[in-house]
Amino acid sequence: MLSSGKIAHTAAAMRTALVGLPTLRFDAMSTIGPAPVERSVIESITVKRREILVQWDDGIVLSTALRLSGEWHLYRTDEMWRKETYRARVVIEVEGWVAVCFDAPIVETYRQPDRKRHPQSGGVGPNISQPNTDLSGCTQRLLDYRYADAMIADVLMDETVVSGFGNVARSETLWAVGLSPFAKMADLSYEDCAVLVETASRIAQSDHEASPSVYGRNGQRCNRCHGTIEFKSVGHPRRNLYWCPECQGRLDRRLIPNQLLQGDHTPTHPAELMYIADAIAARKRRKIFDDLHQIG
Ligand SMILES: [Zn+2]
Repeated sequence: MLSSGKIAHTAAAMRTALVGLPTLRFDAMSTIGPAPVERSVIESITVKRREILVQWDDGIVLSTALRLSGEWHLYRTDEMWRKETYRARVVIEVEGWVAVCFDAPIVETYRQPDRKRHPQSGGVGPNISQPNTDLSGCTQRLLDYRYADAMIADVLMDETVVSGFGNVARSETLWAVGLSPFAKMADLSYEDCAVLVETASRIAQSDHEASPSVYGRNGQRCNRCHGTIEFKSVGHPRRNLYWCPECQGRLDRRLIPNQLLQGDHTPTHPAELMYIADAIAARKRRKIFDDLHQIG
């Protein structure tokens, strides 16, 4: 186990080598969370107890909890690593240097919205019911949303993010992308936001009210997974929200089993939440299959 002095020393060396430089390579093995976009600049490297945090200028934060086994090494680009490659959990490369995190038990990435970087993001958001609207501007507004804890279902109704988007289209869009309406903004990756905006625009411009997949179908079967569609009145003012809990579990923190919330590690990382949500979904699919099998 490294002493805290050694961790501080390592972080200082990484700071000198990496901060202010564009990232040439970022690999976080077996971590599905958001990654810094190519060539984004490393802004800071900090230590919080036994964690080393790396922050990029696009708002991505990498947190590596070193606990007893983890350590960061800093190498010159062509230098041999002092540990086996398969033990690497993260590799960050900049001009001249490679930083490698070995054996860290917990590696997480998440997005930290920073409104200071986008002072222009006031006013009403792009009207996505119109063709040729600024979809990337809309994605950016989602990424910059100031409340990391806000639910995506509420944020889609916020006119400073997106306009021309109705309540029926909201339920239909979240169903189409398979995302939980209760997912928190901080857990959404750049790709999640981009896909969401693209789908929202397609649905807003279609005749989606004619044959909705979930809206108004409370208690009926989901066309995709045969789960039972649920209904809830949410937000201010309260609006009807319909979703299928069976196939819209992605990034839903409420689905984390209680026993996983006890102990010293609470899963907060999208990758982990996704894994848990997928595991629950797989169990349910299996049950549906077994039920059908018994029916014959
Ligand atoms: Zn479903």
